[in-house]
Amino acid sequence: MNLLSFKSSLQVDDIISYAELVAAEGVNLQRGMNFKIKPQYSIFLMSLRKGAPYEDEFDKATNTLIYEGHDAPKNECLDPKNSDQPLNSKNGTLTENGKFFTAAHAFKQGIISEAHKVKVYEKLKDGIWCYKGYFNLIDAKIVFTGKRKVFKYFLQPVEIKKFKEKYYDIHTRLIPSEVKIEVWKRDKGRCVICGSTENLHYDHELPYSKGGTSLSAKNVRILCMKHNLKKSNKILSIIPVY
Ligand SMILES: [Zn+2]
Repeated sequence: MNLLSFKSSLQVDDIISYAELVAAEGVNLQRGMNFKIKPQYSIFLMSLRKGAPYEDEFDKATNTLIYEGHDAPKNECLDPKNSDQPLNSKNGTLTENGKFFTAAHAFKQGIISEAHKVKVYEKLKDGIWCYKGYFNLIDAKIVFTGKRKVFKYFLQPVEIKKFKEKYYDIHTRLIPSEVKIEVWKRDKGRCVICGSTENLHYDHELPYSKGGTSLSAKNVRILCMKHNLKKSNKILSIIPVY
């Protein structure tokens, strides 16, 4: 087995195939909203692409992901896209919309002290996903679009300062999707050093901590895990050894 192709844990901004996403979670994700798929967290699959089924957005000014709820299933509703998104399913239990809505309000009203954690994966194009890290679910609203009611969930990246448990990742500044798509095209979906198409990661050429920006494609490139690790080793080697 090629050890380099085995990835035990994902880092924020890793580019992965759907198979790698499933392998990382150990669950075959069949839908976009997955409440408490693991005891400690839920999963959202999202997309900011044109023509995506739902209108997810990222508000750069407030560093907030606004995730749209999901429609009624086709077997419960004749015209899901023109109907209100449901809080309850036909049998009266909460839908995924309802479960996330309840969790967001429990936090907002102080019923739970820590926000519910949601891991987010973004679809960049067919078969290509990007791991976005852990987010806090801080609020939820029901919004009238002019045509129907939809759910909107408000999430902010979990920051290292607030980490209590080791399974949370370091959140660097998020790279906007348009930058990712531009970089993906420019670097042709390959490591810029060796041309590998496996275990790819978006890398800040000049680290964010040193003033590098995420907002321009010029400072972002694609590296494979091997070359990404070489880069971090360089940084590690300047830390004094006692
Ligand atoms: Zn490489």
